[in-house]
Amino acid sequence: MTNTPWPHFSEAELQCHCGCGRLEMDGDFMLALEKLRMAYGKPMPVSSGYRCPAHNTQVSETGAAGPHTTGKAVDVLVAGADAHRLLTLALQQGFTGIGLSQKGPPEKRFIHLDTIPPGSGYPRPALWTY
Ligand SMILES: [Zn+2]
Repeated sequence: MTNTPWPHFSEAELQCHCGCGRLEMDGDFMLALEKLRMAYGKPMPVSSGYRCPAHNTQVSETGAAGPHTTGKAVDVLVAGADAHRLLTLALQQGFTGIGLSQKGPPEKRFIHLDTIPPGSGYPRPALWTY
């Protein structure tokens, strides 16, 4: 995983999954994510990072302008006790948007994390479930 400026996250997992290849993660967000990763101390596989507006329309009910199109959001595959610990750390470290998907097969469970600030068109801080 040496193909991004962020040692613990790869281009393949962060780039838009529609095939467009766009990878427009926010630098400050990635610094916050690396800091969280260091505190967590274990791999944080990303199932969704940057999304172009067209792809977000395909995969999210938020349409063309969801959190992932800002470059300030990821979904991290995590379940069980690890999910509890990652959530605790994310709250401590100031992540403002947290979405929990913790039903179904453990390998598909995830936590959405973003750092979108209040007053930027999204209700923040916010906690939601899928
Ligand atoms: Zn795309």
